[in-house]
Amino acid sequence: MHSLEGQVAIITGAASGIGREIAKRFCAAGAIAVIADLALPAAEATAAEFEAQGHKAMAVAMDVTSEEQVNAGIAAVLAAYGRIDVLVSNAGIQIVHPIEDFPFSDWKKMLAIHLDGAFLTTKAVLPAMYAAGHGSVIYIGSVHSKEASVLKSAYVTAKHGLLGLCRTLAKEGGKKGVRANVVCPGFVRTPLVEKQIPEQAQALGITEEQVIKNVMLKETVDGEFTTVDDVADCVLFFASARSKALTGQSIIVSHGWSME
Ligand code: NAD
Repeated sequence: MHSLEGQVAIITGAASGIGREIAKRFCAAGAIAVIADLALPAAEATAAEFEAQGHKAMAVAMDVTSEEQVNAGIAAVLAAYGRIDVLVSNAGIQIVHPIEDFPFSDWKKMLAIHLDGAFLTTKAVLPAMYAAGHGSVIYIGSVHSKEASVLKSAYVTAKHGLLGLCRTLAKEGGKKGVRANVVCPGFVRTPLVEKQIPEQAQALGITEEQVIKNVMLKETVDGEFTTVDDVADCVLFFASARSKALTGQSIIVSHGWSME
């Protein structure tokens, strides 16, 4: 492992849930965490909290589906620090419907946040990473990068798509010192999942307890939720790998829900 001291790590969607924990862990490892989020007040509060603890953090307003906002946000980071060492493409939402009822507008919104967002942020950080001859891009995929679930066609499609983007970047970036990897979490009790529990209960005609036990955690080895900490561990592992050997990979952290 090499130190992240003084490195600049941009984490999208870091004002909440998994991204917030990842940003916190980059701070604890001595990096400067850039909290890039649609929700600017929450991003600012997160950065202020980390700074009050003696860490270095910066909040950036960014809708990852907007090329203009992504480019402006990345430019602001480069103006402030002159380098970008790590990108964690994490911003994401969930919308569930059966395919036959999936509004096309919701489908496009899902693909825009998960795929356009990953593409636009990657594209924007690469010139600085290539110029420096080093960088690490980590996509937050999901067990749904590997498996399918009913009602989640857009999410499953987008999360599978991230594997393709990651592998392509691993090939293009390899000789330029840039690595790309994907972390694939199982269910984590963040606001994104708390919202899904009643929605799925209604869509499937079962209780919320049954959604947790028989849908979300059914295939795990121990009936446990994955935690934000579990996910952050994997991200830090990818970010701090010492050699260029660890690239083009995806790691599943899901209490054995999915195994390969
Ligand atoms: P969350 O709802 O707690 O946080 C998501 C964050 O993304 C929020 O701060 C939100 O403001 C931000 N965001 C949403 N749209 C955005 C946009 N267009 N531009 C910038 N920021 C935007 O969700 P979470 O559970 O922490 O999810 C984070 C990532 O982890 C997502 O990609 C999600 O698909 C993935 N994931 C989550 C789980 C889980 O069980 N929670 C499992 C596997 C993968």
